[in-house]
Amino acid sequence: MGSAAPADNGTVSPRTAIAVLTSGGDAQGMNAVVRAVVRTAIGAGADVYAVYEGLQGLVDGGDRIKKADWGSVGSILHRGGTVIGTARSADFRRHDGRLRAARNLVQLGIDRIVVIGGDGSLSGADLFRSEWTGLLTELVEQGEISAEQAERHTHLMIAGVVGSIDNDMVGTDMTVGADTALHRIVEAIDALASTAASHQRSFVVEVMGRHCGYLALMSAIAGGADYVLIPENPPADGWEDDMCARLRAGRSAGRRDSIVVVAEGARDRSGQPITSQGVRDLLEARLGEDTRVTILGHVQRGGTPSAFDRWMPTLVGHAAAMEVVDARPDAEPQLIGIHNNRVHRTPLMEAVERTREIPRLIDTGDYEGAMAARGSSFTEMVRVFQGIAQVAPTDVPPGSRIAILHAGGLAPGMNTAVRAAVRFGLSRGHTMLGVQGSFQGLIDGHVSELTWGDVEGWVGVGGAELGTSRAVPSVEQYYAVSRALENHGIEALLVIGGHSAYEATYRMLQERDRYPGFQIPVICLPTTIDNNLPGSEMTIGTDTALGEIVSAVDRLKQSAMASRRCFVVEVMGRYCGYLAFMGAMSVGAERVYLHENGVHLADLTTDVAEMVASFAAGRRFHLAIRNEAASVGYSTEFLCQLFAEESGGAFDVRPMVLGHLQQGGNPSPYDRVHATRLAAYCVDWLSGQIVADKREWGFVALTDGVLSTVPLKTMPDLVDMEFRRPIDPWWLELQPIMDALATEPAE
Ligand code: ADP
Repeated sequence: MGSAAPADNGTVSPRTAIAVLTSGGDAQGMNAVVRAVVRTAIGAGADVYAVYEGLQGLVDGGDRIKKADWGSVGSILHRGGTVIGTARSADFRRHDGRLRAARNLVQLGIDRIVVIGGDGSLSGADLFRSEWTGLLTELVEQGEISAEQAERHTHLMIAGVVGSIDNDMVGTDMTVGADTALHRIVEAIDALASTAASHQRSFVVEVMGRHCGYLALMSAIAGGADYVLIPENPPADGWEDDMCARLRAGRSAGRRDSIVVVAEGARDRSGQPITSQGVRDLLEARLGEDTRVTILGHVQRGGTPSAFDRWMPTLVGHAAAMEVVDARPDAEPQLIGIHNNRVHRTPLMEAVERTREIPRLIDTGDYEGAMAARGSSFTEMVRVFQGIAQVAPTDVPPGSRIAILHAGGLAPGMNTAVRAAVRFGLSRGHTMLGVQGSFQGLIDGHVSELTWGDVEGWVGVGGAELGTSRAVPSVEQYYAVSRALENHGIEALLVIGGHSAYEATYRMLQERDRYPGFQIPVICLPTTIDNNLPGSEMTIGTDTALGEIVSAVDRLKQSAMASRRCFVVEVMGRYCGYLAFMGAMSVGAERVYLHENGVHLADLTTDVAEMVASFAAGRRFHLAIRNEAASVGYSTEFLCQLFAEESGGAFDVRPMVLGHLQQGGNPSPYDRVHATRLAAYCVDWLSGQIVADKREWGFVALTDGVLSTVPLKTMPDLVDMEFRRPIDPWWLELQPIMDALATEPAE
């Protein structure tokens, strides 16, 4: 990557120069941060240096600190680990090591660093920053640097990005790498579950997380495990009996396998470690069943980054680069993370300190404090897991009859949502009814009770076991729908689906006073790959579809390695450009065409000129992503013909319509966790309505991390009904970042 750098010899006025490094444990997605930092800094007119082998590279200097250029970070988004290397550095812990690091930086005119690492790396970098002035004085005294050089670089400005698969940092909703690690774990649990079911075996799966139960808890939810053991929330005394009883109950209710997920730092209430081997021995002894242990280990750090671990680190990397480029010398260093899909800044050392407090709370037995420090949604998911993992208790008072039906197109995660709703509802004493075949099925009487065992195995299966349909009932059918609701004694309705589900329910709401069967509470839960529904920044299924797009484009890119080629990839989304836009951001496409922006001849003319020039300058691959409804006239075929005509034979052009593979596939871990969370909320909300004798109709919304129900009647204010998409899409604000990283600025 890059070339040898001219040293700051103290005679020229150097440009702003920043360095980027990855340090500590590696994590998938670090490359996306590096790419974003390098390209953003170049775009901002700064020089940027890649430091190899983490903080040790700073100490070593020489060819471990290399100037990076635009092309040097091309084609790294899809690679796991970190292409600039990482290390743990004993030298950097010592004063003389940091003195050498300061000298190496000043000699290159660098006084700004983006550090990507865990709390160790970030606090090490902050120590370096705080010592900087003293280090430079020492270097001047030793004659290593000139007084002018020291004058020019009076402060070191740093920004931190957390790269850690554990998701253990306060100050960001997600750390870079955690989502991909969750993918690896859930893939493994899915694989284990099928073999375990064949032999009626039990598996104990140990996952990483010495102080943080995030991976264990979320993988237990997404993998449909029976029991989970995490450091922050040790099980109550007597947990061994409880665990065995639950596993037994699961088996008699229809499970063919049992899976217990253990975080490596799990412990009991007295602080004694709970090991995977210990759990295995217990299960074999008590249940008399063949039990195997799988310790996932470094597999969790491996593999290609997920879609989320490409776009999120891209946003964060871009912001971190701007943070140091624009930093005032005395600015407090910031941790750049993500909160509710937005870049979020927290004072760096405050985040590190609060993160380090959690293991202390665990060690002193303050588990409530530790759970509180993890945040409210973590606590909520512990409660949800307990509701769905155990077979419904028999001692709860009988509840109400709640029906579930699908409407709209297929989306991965529909089954997950039904399973969670059924099990959560049963745990609250409700009778859960499944409607087969959408609204028409309801009219035709295809309604049956769903038991705990009926939804076994649905957590990770794509498609929709209950069936779905885009048909919106006509006004003439409302009477039949109402009669069906009455006939089956349905007291509340959960509609899980896409735009048609919302539209059908909204239309029925207009007429509800006329139909007795409609006098019940109704809530809609958003499942569609298009991500075009109000209230939810990410609908269930969209993360899975994005993952399918990313893996398809990765393969396309590989296929084009040996030629000079432009691909125009058409993705789904109807009139909503989310999949096209986030797909483009996640794979590093050069251009994206959206209906929201329109496709204009003048833009196409510029695009063609840029493309031709870049191939002439040596480019081998150009990727354009087009939303399926971006433009009627400027179709995918048209774009291909246009580009081919203008190529002058310098490159060839291929269309690629990804089509229905985007709707298929098993739901991603995020879609499973999110579907489970929303479904549990919806059941709770419906129960609350019944208890309070209310009959509201709404859709679930997630705003600032908090779930709520928005009245369905407000839908026309929030949705562009003609193009079926939210009026104000949050992700369109990211366009400048996409543009800044896609095109190299002209000299
Ligand atoms: P992580 O960044 O993943 O938490 P470590 O805790 O191993 O990983 O830290 C990575 C590197 O950061 C260490 O090898 C060391 O070079 C540096 N480092 C960590 N803590 C300090 C410190 N207190 N002072 C100086 N350097 C530190």
